[in-house]
Amino acid sequence: MIDRNGARRDLSAIVADITPELLGPKQLDGLKAIDAEQLPLVADGVRIGLPVAGIRQFIAVGLNYRKHAEEAQMPIPAEPLVFNKALTSLAGPNDDVPMPTLTQQMDWEVELAIVIGSQAHQLQQSQALGAVAGYCLANDVSARDWQLDHNGQWTKGKSFPGFGPLGPYLVTSDEVDDPQNIPLSLRVNGHLRQNSNTSDMIFPVSEIVSYISQFMILLPGDVIVTGTPEGVGMGMKPPVYLAKGDVMELDGGALGAQRQLVV
Ligand code: ZN
Repeated sequence: MIDRNGARRDLSAIVADITPELLGPKQLDGLKAIDAEQLPLVADGVRIGLPVAGIRQFIAVGLNYRKHAEEAQMPIPAEPLVFNKALTSLAGPNDDVPMPTLTQQMDWEVELAIVIGSQAHQLQQSQALGAVAGYCLANDVSARDWQLDHNGQWTKGKSFPGFGPLGPYLVTSDEVDDPQNIPLSLRVNGHLRQNSNTSDMIFPVSEIVSYISQFMILLPGDVIVTGTPEGVGMGMKPPVYLAKGDVMELDGGALGAQRQLVV
């Protein structure tokens, strides 16, 4: 838990982990009632893992920013384009990302992630934000050759181990005034590559949750990454892909920051 001064506090005497069962509105209110200043500080240098344990579905939306659809030379979707990322791609926000030997086209994608708090099935758009526990920063790391040149589906290029850094925090919904006003930026080796805001999304968070809930039941702890803005390596002329030793630095304003080394 992050206290008022931004210091990390150890919750382990109170809960073993932040599991789906703790993400409902009542349970989050219970956590909120804890006086964080009374908890022990977490030592500097301790690895930060996933902000939520026991994630059961890891879903992604593609081409949700107009300029990114243009740079990818793909049509702007009339409905949200949805694919899955393997659960085994999930990683901590600052973990090294292993470069698979099978790809020559590893790319970056800074994104807003939604964490579901309550079971959601066939919600209206007006009900959708009520099912959201909070938000995280995410990197939807992608192998473009496997995403696009291996006869479908996108899941292939999005699921390698380490391709789903998430965190550092779950920022609960009550701390996010407007999920459509979150800055997102990404640097590679210090060079600014992506710099946008969730205000540019084609389909907002409420529509994404409502839409996906029409054809599947969303469960507490499920994570939905919501698409990346323009500035990915594939869109550069000529394209630039990640190499071993590259460093990705992501910033999501109040969502915090990530840093990954490609190994
Ligand atoms: Zn993406």
